[in-house]
Amino acid sequence: MLNIDLHIHSLHSGHAYGTIYDIMEEASKKKMKMIAITDHGPSLTGSAPETHFLMGARAPKEHKGVKVLWGCEANIINEQGDLDISEEIIKKLDIILVQTHLPTPYKDLGKEKNTEAMIRCFKKYPIHIFSHPNFISYDYDFEKVCESACENNILLELNLATLGKTRNNKTNFIYLKKMIEIARKHNKKIIINSDAHFLSEIGDDSILKEYWEELDLSEDIIINNYQDELLEFLRSKNE
Ligand SMILES: [Zn+2]
Ligand SMILES: [Zn+2]
Repeated sequence: MLNIDLHIHSLHSGHAYGTIYDIMEEASKKKMKMIAITDHGPSLTGSAPETHFLMGARAPKEHKGVKVLWGCEANIINEQGDLDISEEIIKKLDIILVQTHLPTPYKDLGKEKNTEAMIRCFKKYPIHIFSHPNFISYDYDFEKVCESACENNILLELNLATLGKTRNNKTNFIYLKKMIEIARKHNKKIIINSDAHFLSEIGDDSILKEYWEELDLSEDIIINNYQDELLEFLRSKNE
């Protein structure tokens, strides 16, 4: 079980099923230390409106011993690397995850330009986590984008939902292994998150032991094991 899980969707994402109170209660039952509620950005069909994210400043920060962060899994929406949340929202959020998703207003620009759009986004915004680099909507240069995430002090995510989803896909492991290698090369840690859409998935890392050796994982590279370092990282990005 993860003590810290910073990628959880509530029913405000449109295709997830717990209220934020269900999620906080579940995390407390599981004796977790910290969670983040990170609904999909407003440009994804069916997701929460901007007003949902603007409530971040008033959202509960703690629930029965669990630290609660209010965030967004924002979408890159164009060639300039713009996100689908405003500066005003970004200031109100504790944590920002970024990826491209379908369907959003983003138009496929081809591998080279998709890569440039992502790198521009990384340089432009105070992003905390690049979510599921292995599970993408548009082709991009995996190594270049992961390298850029490290250079811009953005955590690479080992996403448990897509690890399970693509368990028989050999290419997926090649990418994930590469991602871990890139993090090590840059002396960075990775983050492990559930990307839960159902309450039972919150903090559940049981799938990980099947792939631990195959992915060449080690405890020292997982930032979930270092809460103080993680809090300092979040704080430094939000200055
Ligand atoms: Zn996602
Ligand atoms: Zn997600």
